[in-house]
Amino acid sequence: TGSTRPQRILRAVQKNSTRGSPCSVVNAIDDYCKHKEWAMNVGDEKGIIVDDVVLELKPITVLELGTYCAYSTVRIANLLPPEAKLITLEFNAESAAIAREIITWAGLEEKIQLIIGASGDWIPRLKEEFGIETFDLVFLDHWKDRYLPDTKLLEKCGLLKPGAVLLADNVICPGTPDYLDYVRNSPRYKSKFYRSHLEYTQEEDGLEHSVFLGLYDNPNL
Ligand code: SAM
Ligand code: MG
Repeated sequence: TGSTRPQRILRAVQKNSTRGSPCSVVNAIDDYCKHKEWAMNVGDEKGIIVDDVVLELKPITVLELGTYCAYSTVRIANLLPPEAKLITLEFNAESAAIAREIITWAGLEEKIQLIIGASGDWIPRLKEEFGIETFDLVFLDHWKDRYLPDTKLLEKCGLLKPGAVLLADNVICPGTPDYLDYVRNSPRYKSKFYRSHLEYTQEEDGLEHSVFLGLYDNPNL
C-alpha cells in the first residue's frame, strides 16, 4: 500500500534474485513484469536484440538515455568488458534511487555511472565532467520526443565517432517518427530496423540501429 511500481520491482529483485548475479536480477524483473505488473523496461524479447548488438560491437563507452529501474542498464553492463564504462541518465530522482539500489544489488556499481538529471542538460557536460571522448554505443530509451534533439546534441558536442551505434527503443510503440525520419534519411547514418514487440506484450514495436558515419552534409538535402 502506498508503494510505487519501482519500489515493488526492487522488492521483487531482493526476493527473487541472487545478489551479485546480474542475469538473475534481469530474470526477476522480467518475471515480475510479465506476471504481476507491466513496466517500461526494454524487456526480454527486445533485450535479446540489445544483447546481440552489445556483444557484436564490444563497446568500451556506452551512454544510456533513460534508466528507470536499471533493467537495461544491468542487462547491458553485464555484457561489457571490465574496462568498459556505462553512463546512464535519469531525471526522475525516485526512479534513480531505486535504480542505484538495483545496480548495487547486481554488483555492477563499478561499471555504471548513474547521473540524475535531464539529458539536454547533461549531454553538453559529459566530456568535461566525465572525461568522455566519444561513445561507442548510445541506447536511447527516454521520452520519445527527446530522441531527435538529443541525437543532434550528441553530434554537436562531438560525442559520436564514425562507427558509433545509436540503438533506439520503442521506435514503433509509442513511436518516434521524427527520429526515424532523420536517421533513415540523413547521410550521416546507416540505419536498420529490428522488428519485435512492445515489452511483455504482443504489440508491434522494434529497435532502430543506426551507425554514425560522420558529419557529412549532403548538399542535396
Ligand atoms: N531503459 C530502461 C529499461 O529498459 O530498463 C527504461 C527507461 S524508461 C522507458 C524511460 C525513463 O527515461 C523514465 O524513467 C524517465 O523518467 C526517463 N527520462 C525521460 N526523459 C528524460 C530525459 N530527458 N532525461 C533523463 N531521463 C529521462
Ligand atoms: Mg523502452
